[in-house]
Amino acid sequence: MGRVVKNLGLYLVLILLVVTMVNMFLTPEDTQKQYDEISYSQFLSELNAGHIRILQIRNNTQPGESSAAVIQGEMQNGQRFLTYGLEAGKLADKAAALGVMVTVEAPQKSTWWTSLITTLFPTLLLMGVWLYFLYNMQGGGRVMSFSRSKAKLFLDNRPKVTFDDVAGCDESKEELQEVIQFLKMPEKFTKLGAKVPHGVLLVGPPGTGKTLLARAAAGEANVPFFCASGSDFVEMFVGVGAARVRDLFAQAKRYQPCIIFIDEMDAVGRHRGAGLGGGHDEREQTLNQILVELDGFDGKGNIILIAATNRPDILDPALLRPGRFDRHITVDRPDVKGREAILKVHMKDKIFAGDVDVSVLARQTPGLVGADLENLINEAALLTARHDRDKIGMDELEEGIERVMAGPERRSRLISEKEKKIIAYHEVGHAMVAKVLPDSDPVHKISIIPRGHAALGYTLQLPEEDRFLTSRSDLMNRISILLSGRVAEELVFGDVTSGAANDLDRATQTARQMVTELGMSEKLGLVKLGGKREEIFLGRDIAEDRNYSEEVAYAIDQEVKAIIDACYARARDILSERRALMDKIASVLLERELLDGSEFDALMNGETADVQPDENVPPLPETRDDGLPRDGFLA
Ligand code: ADP
Ligand code: MG
Ligand code: ZN
Repeated sequence: MGRVVKNLGLYLVLILLVVTMVNMFLTPEDTQKQYDEISYSQFLSELNAGHIRILQIRNNTQPGESSAAVIQGEMQNGQRFLTYGLEAGKLADKAAALGVMVTVEAPQKSTWWTSLITTLFPTLLLMGVWLYFLYNMQGGGRVMSFSRSKAKLFLDNRPKVTFDDVAGCDESKEELQEVIQFLKMPEKFTKLGAKVPHGVLLVGPPGTGKTLLARAAAGEANVPFFCASGSDFVEMFVGVGAARVRDLFAQAKRYQPCIIFIDEMDAVGRHRGAGLGGGHDEREQTLNQILVELDGFDGKGNIILIAATNRPDILDPALLRPGRFDRHITVDRPDVKGREAILKVHMKDKIFAGDVDVSVLARQTPGLVGADLENLINEAALLTARHDRDKIGMDELEEGIERVMAGPERRSRLISEKEKKIIAYHEVGHAMVAKVLPDSDPVHKISIIPRGHAALGYTLQLPEEDRFLTSRSDLMNRISILLSGRVAEELVFGDVTSGAANDLDRATQTARQMVTELGMSEKLGLVKLGGKREEIFLGRDIAEDRNYSEEVAYAIDQEVKAIIDACYARARDILSERRALMDKIASVLLERELLDGSEFDALMNGETADVQPDENVPPLPETRDDGLPRDGFLA
């Protein structure tokens, strides 16, 4: 329907345009003949001399007005002329008396429709365009589906995902299951006078399975499922987002009971009044509309709104208050058990070698979320295909872990012998200090094979268990380990390189955090100093609130420096005492390019590791500089 209306309008506009053009070009038909313009006095003398054959007088003014008349004519010699005169009536009589053939034309009346078109048409056009936009903004129009919600409706083609596909977040699942109960049998709750929750907010870091959970909820609940993303409501024109929200909820009411899912809620749900433009911007209207719709729910549990976000801190408080998104379900990073379960879910339809131990993999992947784990297994499967094997083995899985954590290996990057040596000492420095300091995570791997975009070498420490609290000594150890790469360079080569830039950055950040946020500096005490401010349009912490004086700022800098210096001295002590050992381990690393945890431990304990390259490790295919396999390796 909309298309027909649009086309009709277009044709109408075109026709009107053509008519006006034709009208404009056709009226001055006499300008097409050539007339010489002459003065009135010359005309009079020509008339008196009897040179004029034909005279045509045209008065363009309406009766009653006095204005010049157009006088045109032809001389005896055929020359045409044009002039303007005042007393046209008398002139006509005089000329006729002189034997000239005179015609007088009545003032030209413009036809009603030409004047209508030429005067009214532009105005009408403007008004039309204006009304059209207004109509669309208000949400009535369907012409360009401006105000149509972009939400996808799933009826029978509902996602096939079930709660079995989501692993490692059992508490979140239970809570969602309860919410589904509200939809399935609301009477059970309303009978007791309980109000069924309106909105459920899934909160958690990216990749933890929030979207997956919502889809699973829809799959299990067996009701229509609307799926939208917060960014669908963010549009250039003010009011469009709000109109879309209205449309979405209107549709949902037709299909109730149903679930509405809004992913990435933070795109619309930000704090109001935080924008630069005085606060009354498009996003605010959208948010207000969502609030209005949420308040309009009758508490009978026919529609449930599920939203997901990884930034609950920037959501408007009004969204979070009771009666709106009053259920918050946290979807956290999985622990060891959770990771094992997630790995199992994604390993279901793949073939693995007998040596694959899921619990070992789970222990090697602290901090990774569901999406990473899925990616890891996929990487391992790709590697297996590249190695021309038919079962995914532990080697490929471990390589998958490193790829996910540090990026793909880049053996083809050319590094000179000298640089390689520096990198080897740098990494051995990290590893040795990590080994010597008590309570630090064991070294899992040392490599001087470049990986990812920037890492030239790396040392991988893996915790034996998940940690939720970090002590002051843990943090000091961490800083010492970060600084020890630089310390090793300095001790061995007497010079330093740019290779430690990232280490220094992280060390400084940690030290600053200890002083300003964690209350771990005796001098400054337990005061939290400063804070981060969210800059709404940049979406990043670009401004730091300083709620302390210049002196305190100075003291902070001093404390940070003191911490770094202390950690540096400790790392230097550790390494300079073990200079000989460091040389030995570095030479082995240079030879092999890769040491695993047990080999490193053996070297540290003074056992001579045999410097033979491990025969069991299959040679990895070359990779191009962009990290992609060379042509031909992927079938
Ligand atoms: P989020 O929305 O939290 O950013 P997603 O739900 O989009 O994360 O997760 C991306 C993918 O990662 C999912 O499609 C799924 O394959 C996998 N995944 C994430 N979490 C889990 C989990 N708990 N169990 C199984 N798979 C998961
Ligand atoms: Mg998501
Ligand atoms: Zn380093």
